[in-house]
Amino acid sequence: MRLVLLGAPGSGKGTQAQRLQARHGVPQVSTGDLLREAVAAGTPLGRAAKIVMDAGQLVADDIMLGIIRARLARPDAARGFILDGFPRTIAQADGLAAQLRDLGQPIDAVVLFDIDPEVLRKRVAGRRSCRRCSRVFHVETNPLKPDDRCTDGGPHDLFQRPDDNDTTVRERLAVYCDRTQPLIDYYAKKGLLRRIDADGSLEEVDARLERAIAN
Ligand code: AMP
Repeated sequence: MRLVLLGAPGSGKGTQAQRLQARHGVPQVSTGDLLREAVAAGTPLGRAAKIVMDAGQLVADDIMLGIIRARLARPDAARGFILDGFPRTIAQADGLAAQLRDLGQPIDAVVLFDIDPEVLRKRVAGRRSCRRCSRVFHVETNPLKPDDRCTDGGPHDLFQRPDDNDTTVRERLAVYCDRTQPLIDYYAKKGLLRRIDADGSLEEVDARLERAIAN
């Protein structure tokens, strides 16, 4: 299984990527999480990325392509991967296609998470993530349950992402429309695009996603 999940911030790609990973045993590759790890580690990349991320802008394509090349070279990605938040520009999509051609591992499908912008804003406002395992929750639709445990068996350490505030979310949506939406046509022309309605319960979206990737 080699998938790209495409959609605006808050469309639910991250949550669904984590659920797909649990069901199919194929790793979620979230470039946002990889960047947040670099920020938390205080590496030079992390320090530079934090400024760009906090402004709701995109990190440069050549840096992102380097990150993805290193990640896809790790052994767990040999069985497949679920790309979440990558590619975000045409240049990244072209670079990814070239990398996957070299590996002889083309993408099977690109799933577009279709959703109304008003629903997006609500989703992002209620989103919380675990600082340690990156699992995503929502204060209303996917709250932390008393028996939920982090990967080390301890409690989750939930936080709200600094770029999930109203101003930055507006900027991220504008950047999505301008830089990422052209990928819808790009992948439709390659015959890879599957569109799902991303508004619904977790289980409803799970089912739509499974149907979309089964075809
Ligand atoms: P995400 O967790 O996918 O919402 O990503 C959070 C932030 O990380 C984005 O708003 C960007 O600043 C940066 N980022 C993540 N993935 C990419 C990418 N593929 N290209 C450029 N910037 C990215």
